[in-house]
Amino acid sequence: MPVLQLDGLTTNYRTVRGWVKAAEDVSFEVEKGEALGLVGESGCGKTTVALSILKILPSGARIRHGKIIFDGRDLVPLSDSEMRKIRWKGISIVFQGAMNALNPVFKVGDQIVEAIRLHEDVSKGDAMRRAESLLELVGVEPSRVNNYPHEFSGGMRQRALIAMALASNPQLLIADEPGTALDVIVQAQVLKLMRSLKEKLGLSMIMISHDLSIVAEVCEKVAIMYAGHLVEYGSIEAIFKEPLHPYTQGLLGAFPGIKGERRKLTSIPGQPPDLLAPPAACRFHPRCPYVMDICKKEKPLLEKAGSGDHYVACYLY
Ligand code: SF4
Repeated sequence: MPVLQLDGLTTNYRTVRGWVKAAEDVSFEVEKGEALGLVGESGCGKTTVALSILKILPSGARIRHGKIIFDGRDLVPLSDSEMRKIRWKGISIVFQGAMNALNPVFKVGDQIVEAIRLHEDVSKGDAMRRAESLLELVGVEPSRVNNYPHEFSGGMRQRALIAMALASNPQLLIADEPGTALDVIVQAQVLKLMRSLKEKLGLSMIMISHDLSIVAEVCEKVAIMYAGHLVEYGSIEAIFKEPLHPYTQGLLGAFPGIKGERRKLTSIPGQPPDLLAPPAACRFHPRCPYVMDICKKEKPLLEKAGSGDHYVACYLY
């Protein structure tokens, strides 16, 4: 049974100009011990999906439709007090730009202790011992519990935040653009850490990124989002070997791979649409080089295509 199953998740934001259709009919699964990459340009709805799973959406946002099945239970109808039991212990998150999320006036160890004691009834001494072993788990010398955040490098701060997110032994960790503010060498070390945590702890993961080559370093599966729609979904191998959706093909041309041969980069022409008034049917049609009449009239469904576990929402297939 999957740890997490999204079935037709639709989340909208109310703004003064109307409803923003941020995520529409999004479905995917994450198995135990598996990592799924959620990939797309900024504003495509990836973070909205993450906030919907934890039900920490900003005011004015609504889950309009769909199910979020976690550990066999639909989270959508749960109250805030029921969700509080699931956040951190069941599903935890490392937020985007979290490198600056540590409080500069408290020692790192005390901040991890606070995170542990917020969710568990343990003594300060036990929580501090756990903070030390959590730091060790993420590759930081345990004695650094006594340091202040400014005494940590950027990479160590990112590691400390990952340690904090693991404080209550969650089953599922969501990492929103982990390590993006770091230089490439430190970012590669953070990705290596994520991969080893997944293996050591049997952790399930959703990794959010705008960069397919980054999720390929950690994830087995990938879901590509464009303007709030899931457009392609499948194993990393299948999508790298045979990208089917024209948007995925564009994304692969737009990013240099971390490894492999050098190639000429191309960009996707045009701009992502305004989600207050997105293009009808296939939302990619104004930017698609293969657009047909039907693409402007009916939304293509995500259907099995290609070899293996590979799904695409495009009339070319
Ligand atoms: Fe292009 Fe049509 Fe496929 Fe959309 S459905 S990606 S417009 S070919």
